[in-house]
Amino acid sequence: MRIIENLLKSVVLEEGIITEKIKLSEAAFKIRLENKNISKTNFVPGSFLRMGIGIGNDELSMKDKIRSYSVWDINKDEGYLDVAIATHSNGIGSQWVKDCQVGDSVHFKWKKGKFLADDSADSYLLIGDLSALSHLYMIHRNIGYGKQVESILYSQGKNELFADVDGTLPFNFYELSPNPVKALTDKVKEIVPAFKGKKIAYIAGDSRICVALNQFFRKELQWETRQIKTKPFWNPEKKGLE
Ligand SMILES: Cc1cc2nc3c(=O)[nH]c(=O)nc-3n(C[C@H](O)[C@H](O)[C@H](O)COP(=O)(O)OP(=O)(O)OC[C@H]3O[C@@H](n4cnc5c(N)ncnc54)[C@H](O)[C@@H]3O)c2cc1C
Repeated sequence: MRIIENLLKSVVLEEGIITEKIKLSEAAFKIRLENKNISKTNFVPGSFLRMGIGIGNDELSMKDKIRSYSVWDINKDEGYLDVAIATHSNGIGSQWVKDCQVGDSVHFKWKKGKFLADDSADSYLLIGDLSALSHLYMIHRNIGYGKQVESILYSQGKNELFADVDGTLPFNFYELSPNPVKALTDKVKEIVPAFKGKKIAYIAGDSRICVALNQFFRKELQWETRQIKTKPFWNPEKKGLE
């Protein structure tokens, strides 16, 4: 295992140093990472990192060594990026973010994926839980000005949800119990009739919500597949996801 980890660290992953750690709420932390390559990165809004948070911990299996975290903000001039990590899971990612300290190093790899900012629509609906909030903030900052934007961001406690990097609160926050399919579809039905022009929905976080809402948009609202962007971040029956 050590040989594989050393190979990962030296060939596949980059090293970043934690230069800031802030408790955003009772259930989320912000982590700032710096390294010399961040200023040269060809960053696409909606990209994420595979972070080797379990590397060096011999007690963990290989699949528990890596967790994915979305880039919440990037400052290429100063060579840093921020991620926001939720702690509800109580898994290794959650433990890592509680324990890590400024000055620690962490290895990571960039991933672009397909859950990226698309500025081609006129009206947007963004839906997600605490784990998806930072990703949806990044999408929101990169869909262009003058768009019609509605949002449903939820958590069990409203005070667990946090403001965007510039201190603004552009989203509507809701206090909802886990897997709130009915509450979400009811709200979607209230929101979408007022949408004009080309519409896009972003749905992220709990995989059950991604599946149920994708079906709801397609079957009940007759939206086309390309208008519905979903990204499961976690699944109640699995550890990690990507
Ligand atoms: C592309 C991508 C981007 C992601 N970006 C972020 C991000 O920016 N911030 C972030 O916090 N997470 C993000 N995630 C999720 C993250 O990668 C981890 O899955 C999450 O942090 C849980 O990891 P863990 O090791 O703490 O728990 P695990 O060991 O993976 O899971 C332990 C248990 O907790 C459950 N669980 C996991 N997450 C939650 C949750 N949020 N609420 C309730 N139960 C949960 C699991 O289903 C499992 O039963 C992202 C995932 C993907 C695929």
